[in-house]
Amino acid sequence: MSPAAATMPAPAVLKADATIGILGGGQLGRMLALAAARLGFRCHVFSPSPDSPAFDVVHRVTCADYTDTEALDRFAGDVDVVTYEFENVPAETATFLAARIPVLPDPKILATTQDRLAEKTFVAGLGIATAAFADVGEAAALKSAMGRIGRPAVLKTRRFGYDGKGQALIKNGSDPQAVWREVGGQPCILEAFVPFEREVSVIAARGHDGAVECFDVTENEHRDHILKISRVPAAISQAAERQAREIAQTIAQAFGYVGVLAVEMFVLRDGRLLVNEIAPRVHNSGHWTLDGVSVSQFEQHIRAVAGWPLGKPIRHGRVEMINLIGNEVEDYRRWLDVPGAAVHLYGKAAVRPGRKMGHITRVFAD
Ligand code: AMP
Repeated sequence: MSPAAATMPAPAVLKADATIGILGGGQLGRMLALAAARLGFRCHVFSPSPDSPAFDVVHRVTCADYTDTEALDRFAGDVDVVTYEFENVPAETATFLAARIPVLPDPKILATTQDRLAEKTFVAGLGIATAAFADVGEAAALKSAMGRIGRPAVLKTRRFGYDGKGQALIKNGSDPQAVWREVGGQPCILEAFVPFEREVSVIAARGHDGAVECFDVTENEHRDHILKISRVPAAISQAAERQAREIAQTIAQAFGYVGVLAVEMFVLRDGRLLVNEIAPRVHNSGHWTLDGVSVSQFEQHIRAVAGWPLGKPIRHGRVEMINLIGNEVEDYRRWLDVPGAAVHLYGKAAVRPGRKMGHITRVFAD
């Protein structure tokens, strides 16, 4: 690939018939494309997998590897802006494209969010609280990190972890070196285990003009490390709600972010918030916005990367989102006549355990 461009072409305000390029073809890309279509845009999805759920709903597709520079070049020539639905797009791919076409959010942000150590260091540098953490670049560093962090602690691979993959608990009595091997013996971060009361996230959108709009704080319940239910409003104090939004806003401003990002946080019993993770994209815990509020996270993202003003979200009531994971997708029929429920299926042919197949949103009038 060619060396990084010094500067990216300046993003423009797109007309409603422009083409938006999306890197990644999963359900997030599919829902981004549907939101874009509603505003009149066309989408071109670039994904290496032939059975990408987003391919079914877009104007044009490129099925090629992220390192295929000829395909990337053609893709850049066909679109007016590039964004992503998948944060593990290789940094070189985003940089290659950024030399040719505006890529939003700025690919430099990926370098921070793809690496848990860089991400936590960045967040802590903004004066925002996280769990205590230590760098464990190699097995030999684990002992001194354990000395600083104590037990229980969570060992997480610095890169490519999601849905609890690439992480393991070090309890009293467990052999740290065995845990190191369990996560694959790669550079890690050791975090203090947080005895949180609940988990919440804030989905924030930031426009070209620096304006930020946050959705209401979402409370998230996981099963087997996978998000199962989101509830809005979260059962937290008004002060915690305000602080959670401020944290997301501070992070979005510090990145000079354009688009939607998610900030996952732990809420402690005393109401304090600790940032766990940033996702530089639309997020599963924001799916409730599809039916629960006047403008969805997907539309906000499309508006932001198109240079349009952000919408002002007004929530329709209490909202829940229930993920349909693996075989649970077969349950979708029972939701079809439930008052306030909407069924979203991702069109994935193969059902696999742990695979997100669809979700339900439920709006309660009370
Ligand atoms: P992550 O991949 O960092 O989002 O972690 C996945 C899930 O593991 C989180 O949603 C938490 O439920 C749990 N978890 C992660 N880090 C910690 C921690 N330091 N203390 C307690 N639980 C954690």
